[in-house]
Amino acid sequence: MTVIMDGKLLSEIIINQLKIKTGKLEKKPHLVVFLAGNNSASRIYVNNKKKKAEYIGFTLSVVELPSDISEKDFLEQIYIMNDDSNINAMLIQLPLPNNLNSQKIIESVDPIKDADGFTSYNFGWMALGYNPYAVPCTPKGIIRLLDEYKVNPEGKNVIVIGRSNIVGKPLSLMLQQRNATVTMAHSKTENLAEIASSQDIVISAIGIPNFINSKFIKKGAVVIDVGINRTEKGITGDVDFNDVKDKVSMITPVPGGVGPMTIAMLLENTFELFQIQQNFVL
Ligand code: NDP
Repeated sequence: MTVIMDGKLLSEIIINQLKIKTGKLEKKPHLVVFLAGNNSASRIYVNNKKKKAEYIGFTLSVVELPSDISEKDFLEQIYIMNDDSNINAMLIQLPLPNNLNSQKIIESVDPIKDADGFTSYNFGWMALGYNPYAVPCTPKGIIRLLDEYKVNPEGKNVIVIGRSNIVGKPLSLMLQQRNATVTMAHSKTENLAEIASSQDIVISAIGIPNFINSKFIKKGAVVIDVGINRTEKGITGDVDFNDVKDKVSMITPVPGGVGPMTIAMLLENTFELFQIQQNFVL
């Protein structure tokens, strides 16, 4: 029988554990989210994060910036937060308006407050196999889901489809560190279905609804669907769930799989950064 990997449930468990731990703190973690421009999907994501953060007992402040903000003015806002000891974590909600250089903005966040683990300091430490202050939330959530369902990547053939800096690239590195044999695929990969159909674990982060069908899947494979695609029929993943569901051993649903885990990991990162900063003060 196919196991549905319930990211929603696991995320709720993690969030409730964070709530209990936060309830015992005198000072509460404070996360700042920078929201530039008028992207409606970004606004929904930020509101979801805010609701969950406040449920835990964190403070979450949203800094709304106009879409035509200059890079200089944006950076100044971040520098102020870097110097403010009451701010423990920051994230830049992506995508940023086109006139801004996203990596330059991200790099300006103090790595010890980098809730997404996207600064080159944290990303570099992660890539080298050391302990960064924080690792990217979506890959971290996927690894946590695999652990929860006792899917050990060690020695397994894993394909990660999509090589973005926020999902595919860090995930492929993190899976290598867990001793998986990783194939990194992208839009230029030839014979993708043939390669994917030999893999024990297939992870898709490409952003094309229902692209991955049963031709991409070996019988008994584990499938992780990162895609969040807005279609006329609502939100769908990259994987054609109905087509593959009887062929796979385990699969994440969309919604209710990787998405809620990403938020839970953001909040866990915030808590961990807070703790690191408290220890620095001591
Ligand atoms: P990007 O657009 O940054 O990257 C997409 C990647 O997919 C690229 O590497 C691209 O290849 C590759 N790709 C595109 N088309 C194909 C194809 N036909 N065959 C193989 N590879 C292809 O996307 P993101 O990583 O930001 O997001 C991917 C998806 O994941 C989206 O649906 C997004 O909404 C979702 N997402 C979900 C999250 C969650 O929490 N569940 C978090 C973040 C994202 P190339 O590099 O060659 O262009």
